[in-house]
Order: sequence, then C-alpha cells, then structure tokens
Amino acid sequence: MIYKRSSALFAEAKQYIPGGVNSPVRAFKAVGGEPIFVKEAKGAYLYDEDGNRLIDYIASWGPLILGHAYEPVLNAIIDKAKKGTSFGMPTEIETDLAKLAVSMLPNIDKIRFVNSGTEACMSAVRLARGYTGKDKIIKFAGCYHGHSDSFLIQAGSGAVTFGSPNSPGVTQGTAKDTLLAVYNDLESVAQLIKANKGEIAAVIIEPVAGNMGCIIPTDGFIHGLRALCDENDILLIFDEVMTGFRLGRGGAQEALGIKADILCFGKVIGGGLPVGAFAANNEIMGYLAPDGPVYQAGTLSGNPLAMSAGLAMLTELNNNPEIFTSLQEKTAHLHIGLSKALDKKGIPYQINRFGSMISVHFTDEPVMDFATSAKGNNDTFKKYFHGMLDQGIYLPPSAFESYFLNDALCYEDLDATIEAVDNLDLS
Ligand code: PMP
Repeated sequence: MIYKRSSALFAEAKQYIPGGVNSPVRAFKAVGGEPIFVKEAKGAYLYDEDGNRLIDYIASWGPLILGHAYEPVLNAIIDKAKKGTSFGMPTEIETDLAKLAVSMLPNIDKIRFVNSGTEACMSAVRLARGYTGKDKIIKFAGCYHGHSDSFLIQAGSGAVTFGSPNSPGVTQGTAKDTLLAVYNDLESVAQLIKANKGEIAAVIIEPVAGNMGCIIPTDGFIHGLRALCDENDILLIFDEVMTGFRLGRGGAQEALGIKADILCFGKVIGGGLPVGAFAANNEIMGYLAPDGPVYQAGTLSGNPLAMSAGLAMLTELNNNPEIFTSLQEKTAHLHIGLSKALDKKGIPYQINRFGSMISVHFTDEPVMDFATSAKGNNDTFKKYFHGMLDQGIYLPPSAFESYFLNDALCYEDLDATIEAVDNLDLS
C-alpha cells in the first residue's frame, strides 16, 4: 500500500504538534514506521488520506460499537448542533442520558458526566478518598486509568509498600499514595492491604483489562477482590471505560456477575464524542459537589453534542441487546480463524478473548497479567502488525492493546482478516 500523503502529513504535523500526534500510541513508536492519517470512515472501514481502505479493529479504541458514522448517532449530533453547542447551563438531555445509563446499571443511582476517561477515573478516586477519609489507592500493574498523576505510577523499590512515578512531572508525594498490585494475584492485594492497614480508600481495576492486551480476570480473583474490599472498608472501583456498554447492557459487572462501588465510563457513553462519566449509589454520590464537599466540575461537561451522541448510542444498545450476542459471535469466529491460521506458522502464540475484546500475544505462556503480557515477542508482533496493515487490516499498533470489534464488521471482513494472517510470513 502507498502512504505518501500520510507520510507528508505526518512530517508537517511534527512541526507543530509534539511527535506529530495528540496521543502517543498513534505515533507507531511500538511497531515502527509512520502513522496512517485517516480521511474518513464508514461502518467497519477507515479510508486514509492516500485512498486506501482499511478494515478497522480499534473502533476509536472502543466506543464505535456500531461502526463509524452510524446514522442515528450522526443525525442526533447534527440536530443538536443546529440548536447550539454548549451553554454551561443545565439541559434536559443530560437527565435523559443519565436516566438511561442508570437504568442499565442495577447498583447505580446517580451518574456525573465529564469529558474523558482520564477525568472519570481521577474524579472517582477523589470521591473515594473524600468518602472514606483515606488517602491510598491500589491499582494493578498494566491497567491504564488515564494520565492523571495518581495513575502514572510503577512499582517502586519497595513495591509492597509504595510506588514510584513512571513519568517525570509526577511527584514522589503523589506516587507514595498509589500502591501497585499484580493482576489476577489476590495475594498481592492482600499483602498491600495488610502493610497499609486502614489507609486504603479504593482498589481500582479494569474488570476485563484491555491495556496489556485483553486479560481476563479469574473468577476467584475478581470475587476475592470484592470480598477483600468489603472486609477492609475499601471501595472497589471498576474502570469500565472500555468494557462499559460493550460487554453487555450492564458492562463488565453483568458479564462477570459482580458489583463494584464506583464505576468509571468513557468513550462509549458519548458515542465517540469526548465524554466520560463516573457513577455510584446515592450515599457515595452524595459526597460530590454541589451536594457534598468533594469538588469536581467541567465547563463542557454534559455538553449537548456528547449527550445526544451518547443517548443515540445507548438507546440502540439498550433496545437491541442482540447486538452484544452478534459481536460475541463475530469475535469467536475471528478467534477460531486466527488460531487456525497461526497454528500453521509453528510459532508460539496466545489469544485472549472476552466478549468483543480480543488480543494476540506471541508467547508460549498464558497471558494473565502485565509480566506475562510483556513476554510477548515484539519483533514477531511488528511483522504481524505491518503484514496485516499491508493487506488493509488495521490492528492496534501495540501488543499491549486489545482489539475492539464493531458490529458493522461482516463475516467477509473477518474471513479476509483470517486470510491475511494466512498470507503472513512471521518467521
Ligand atoms: N481507563 C481505561 C480502561 C482506558 O482504556 C482509557 C483510555 N484508553 C482511559 C481510562 C482514559 O480515557 P481517556 O483516553 O478518554 O482519557
């Protein structure tokens, strides 16, 4: 494929935007080469600036469950935009979307809209701290909760007792309040709780992880986590930015049969427009300003365009739950086809799948956490990624990202993807 115009646009972008992109993973650093510039998209397909058509497996990193430029969402945005784009005053549609979202989530009474997943997780943690009167949080290595300071933390030298910043600009003072546990390892959480008795406000987790590839929690782990939190007066925060309204009407909570105390959403709830949200029961949400003392705000929060897109999207999903089954079946079809194609290559690989999230790891060990995900062979991954791209298949440009299927993908697209793997030389 030819990427002449993409390449020229990237060169120009680099003069004005750091690294030429507004979010680092877009720059293809992990896979080498240069990013593709999108011109437009429809359904399951991206059309780039050079006129190439790509089958899209990232769906804007999750939200476009029904495909790109989905008519009911588009029409809702256009109709709303004609009536004004932002007021900084309350509008009826905020309540409409809140009411619908709350009705899809059985343990939730109230929801607050923000502008991104980062804001949602940052605010959820502040609320948890305000509600419990405790400072520390536990997160899991490899889980991503946006780029607010408390989450840009890696295991420090005394991993059991404190974390250390993994980006310059994050202070040690902030890092000391974020403790790092190992995904799917309940004992690692129990140890942290024991070593920081009475100090932990919340445990935050991607209930099905999508930021170290797709990683599925074991039953014992996720239910054990709930029990540990209950025993120690710790709030359990599910970051459902990727899983919310994707793994089913009730997201990961429903899919895993477990309830969290605070939920974080993003992307999906805005139908692909900049949005996020966090939600909990009346008691916890009562701590939030203006009802309670925990401050949180946003000029563009609940803006009519994002609300109208979100309402159109969630209405479709709520009225047609068969979409979730259809997506799961398509993802299972892809899984089987990819396995058959990769079996023929004679190289070690793992495929993890949950609902419409799936990822391929080139390693012979089951991928259960960040360490096992990081063992994937990145040279093979690069060949795989670029070999697929050359055949018009757009996969996430990093081995640490999940694919997100959208329901506009048809079985011909999936079979074309499997055939493309057949054609690859990964030796
Ligand atoms: N949480 C999770 C699980 C995410 O995957 C992401 C982004 N991919 C975020 C939070 C942050 O969301 P945003 O990029 O909208 O700030």
